[in-house]
Amino acid sequence: MRGTRVDPAVSEVLFDRETIEARVRQLGRAITEDYRGKDLLLIGVLKGAIFFIADLMRELDIACEVDFIAISSYGSSTDSSGVVRILKDLDSSIEGRHVLVVEDIIDSGLTLSYLVRTLEARAPASLEVCALLTKPARRQTQVSCRYVGFEIPAKYVIGYGLDFSQHFRNLPYIGVLRDDLAAEVLGTPSA
Ligand code: 5GP
Repeated sequence: MRGTRVDPAVSEVLFDRETIEARVRQLGRAITEDYRGKDLLLIGVLKGAIFFIADLMRELDIACEVDFIAISSYGSSTDSSGVVRILKDLDSSIEGRHVLVVEDIIDSGLTLSYLVRTLEARAPASLEVCALLTKPARRQTQVSCRYVGFEIPAKYVIGYGLDFSQHFRNLPYIGVLRDDLAAEVLGTPSA
């Protein structure tokens, strides 16, 4: 990793800046091929997906728009209940649109499956999901995700948009939060 200081809160760097960049470029190419000729609407899930959607969008060589939705799951951020509250809704209708939901991480899958059901009820022409990270070992519900950046173990990760108590989103890499700090996450809901 090119001279990036690793934060003391991180026990292990999983993906450095260059690795993330290369994978986002690949995802951008795949999405460009799949949506050529269609007017794509990217929906970023705040706040964790901010850097991912900004970088991904610049790798798309097709017509596209962007909108954002902010949700908060009831329960703690490590164990989501799957009941989701919309904190900020989309600015415009998705009816008849080709929608790609851009999410930071799929853990249990409960949040995303609730969000997908909510958006499907608004009658988009198509609805797919692109997640930067997924933790298959933690999955509690089946949720279909067309594009995945990286599969990771069942550990709490921070950086590149992902937080711990709203901090560390600005780390340019994705790393595992130190175990002693991760224990504190319980009971801290995060949007
Ligand atoms: P799920 O409903 O899939 O269990 O939870 C999804 C949400 O929980 C993610 O959008 C994210 O906000 C949070 N989350 C799950 N795992 C992690 C993690 O390892 N790190 C961080 N920062 N957030 C996580």
